[in-house]
Amino acid sequence: MPENCIFCQIVAGTAPADILYKDEQVTVFKDRHPAAPVHLLLIPNRHIESLNHITEADGSLLGHLFTVARKIAEEQNVSQSGYRVIVNTGPGAGQSVFHLHFHLLGGGRLPILTR
Ligand code: 5GP
Ligand code: ZN
Repeated sequence: MPENCIFCQIVAGTAPADILYKDEQVTVFKDRHPAAPVHLLLIPNRHIESLNHITEADGSLLGHLFTVARKIAEEQNVSQSGYRVIVNTGPGAGQSVFHLHFHLLGGGRLPILTR
């Protein structure tokens, strides 16, 4: 694992985080600067730099990330009110941590950015 990757350190337990869920493949924790009442980060435990670095071999991992997102959204009571999954990819899209992560945002009226 890259020694200087903060998300690898969270997976390894060497950096603190408010972890809500962890299994062999993924870890879910609260974003330290929440942009919505529910703002969680879902990450693969294995270091993948960004969406630009995934391959066909990562298909089941990505499917699992979405399934975990669905379950966590239910647990957080936002599955009916609404939530959003965002993957910022590259600096122009605002990616600041280069370990793949899904933002799960919900619990409020989210501004629509796509139209
Ligand atoms: P990005 O801008 O790369 O899409 O998202 C990175 C997110 O990670 C940001 O929302 C930021 O607040 C969060 N973040 C960065 N470092 C840490 C950390 O050490 N702990 C936690 N819990 N969140 C972090
Ligand atoms: Zn990492």
